Amino acid sequence: MSSEKVGGFTRRTFIKGAALGTAGLASAGILTRCGPTDDGASQSSPDAEKPAFMQPPAPIADSDIKETVTTDVVVCGAGMAGLCAAIAAAQGGARVVLLEKGEYTGFRGMEYGAVDSRNQKQIGISIDRDEIINEIMRWGGYKADQRVVSLWADHSGATMDWIEDMGKQLSIAAQPVAIERQTIEGTFFKYYPTVACEFIPNEEAMAQEPKLHFPTQHALRYILETNIKNLNVDLRFKTPAVQLLRTDQNQVTGVIAQNDDGYIKFNTAKGVILCTGDYANEPEMLKTYIPSSENIYGITYPNKLNTGDGHKMGLWIGAAMDEGPHAPMYFDQGLNGMPPGYKPVPLTRQPWLGINVLGDRFANEDLPYGYISNGMLKQPESMKWVIWDAKWPEEVERFGYIVCKEMAPPLHILEEIEELIDKGIIVSAQTLDELAGKMGVPADTFKATVERYNGLAVMKKDLDFGKRSACLTSIETTPFYAAKLATTLLVTLGGLQINHKLQVLDNDGQVIPGLYAAGNTSGNFSRL
Ligand SMILES: Cc1cc2nc3c(=O)[nH]c(=O)nc-3n(C[C@H](O)[C@H](O)[C@H](O)COP(=O)(O)OP(=O)(O)OC[C@H]3O[C@@H](n4cnc5c(N)ncnc54)[C@H](O)[C@@H]3O)c2cc1C
Repeated sequence: MSSEKVGGFTRRTFIKGAALGTAGLASAGILTRCGPTDDGASQSSPDAEKPAFMQPPAPIADSDIKETVTTDVVVCGAGMAGLCAAIAAAQGGARVVLLEKGEYTGFRGMEYGAVDSRNQKQIGISIDRDEIINEIMRWGGYKADQRVVSLWADHSGATMDWIEDMGKQLSIAAQPVAIERQTIEGTFFKYYPTVACEFIPNEEAMAQEPKLHFPTQHALRYILETNIKNLNVDLRFKTPAVQLLRTDQNQVTGVIAQNDDGYIKFNTAKGVILCTGDYANEPEMLKTYIPSSENIYGITYPNKLNTGDGHKMGLWIGAAMDEGPHAPMYFDQGLNGMPPGYKPVPLTRQPWLGINVLGDRFANEDLPYGYISNGMLKQPESMKWVIWDAKWPEEVERFGYIVCKEMAPPLHILEEIEELIDKGIIVSAQTLDELAGKMGVPADTFKATVERYNGLAVMKKDLDFGKRSACLTSIETTPFYAAKLATTLLVTLGGLQINHKLQVLDNDGQVIPGLYAAGNTSGNFSRL
């Protein structure tokens, strides 16, 4: 990787900060020369056939600019990727502006995927670099850019160590996450123990988040926010980036943002980094790039902020988008009767017997949740019933469960299960006929499915769908339980095509100078 010097700091510093956000996880319009240039002139007229989000807006006139700021780097979006990028650039000596559309930093998640962080090595976790790169490439049909995937594999461990070191300075410790919490033996698809570490909040961090639903998440937020402050990053809330500025030679020279007082023009000496997250809350983009989303139960995290702004700003100046369909991050956590944003109920997401509304089994219920969600989406009503019985506390122990399905507090709360039963969200019955009636599935088909499934459980061999034998449970001890599950969308993963230096590319595969993307705004990683 190059460490090309770009002024007071190196490209490598950009990459260090952004690598985590880019790869922590996961056919667009040909719009060359159609965005505003920094002399305010639009280069071509909108194309009526393209969806509205691809149409570049009218350029903002200089007379409408209320403030002009000159800086080195502007990072758009203060989520995981943007905070890391801003810190890395500021540590490298750059003057940094960090623009955030919302009132707070957009912080999500608790599990940070990495290879070879110190904490992983401490408990003997060793992930074969070449194997995991090729596995990610294989899941995406080798459509990702292997150099971008390698960037994550080669730098994510060091990036987490960098964050851990910043935490230590603030008396926030990091600890490894046990391999048993990350992987399950014998699954059809292998799980890799990529969770880098978890952070333990100190008293000051806890005081700032008294509810502390997710203390480990808040500890990381505290580390990043404190560093942003200490490094004098010019963080501006409620100031969304709205348009990129560029020269006739396609060099990005800055960005225009908007706050309650009007437009602010930021001229950048080094570059603009787009970290505006995903587009889950932009219906037209969802329809265009993830057609299967038409049948989902809803968005897990509905908000007005993650509307693909960075993707759009890139498209308007001719950036290349990952070809569609894009990879969605689907979860099987939509609980019929509750809002799509209701928190996951791990008991309902275990690999119990799963049937469609016709009463038939249709898939190996032990699939990773993205895959089982795809299976559900193909069923009538795009849903499934999960069925378990009174033996569940003993049976569930042998399934093994990974982080997102963990049956431990704060997500697994027994009183909540009782409440859901009382509300009829989880239905229970003393007979299979009664349960079939409550589910509204044909009783004869349902009973035949249960009989077959119970027989497979006795054989300890799933002849029908190849499910792990540990997950074959009989439905025989009353009361019986059922819950109707559907798919929710957590985030979208497709983005602007980048190279291994996180530079945004145009439709000819050429670098757009001065423009970078990271996190869920960037592409070439999670492909379908
Ligand atoms: C509830 C939840 C839990 C998750 N848990 C995990 C997990 O445990 N592990 C994991 O790897 N992933 C998890 N994810 C996925 C997660 O989205 C990404 O891993 C990560 O947050 C992406 O970071 P990001 O910086 O790209 O985007 P975001 O975190 O979404 O940040 C984008 C930021 O940009 C801001 N923004 C938007 N438009 C503009 C604009 N025009 N100008 C300025 N700012 C703008 C937004 O307000 C937001 O603050 C989770 C997602 C959700 C929703």
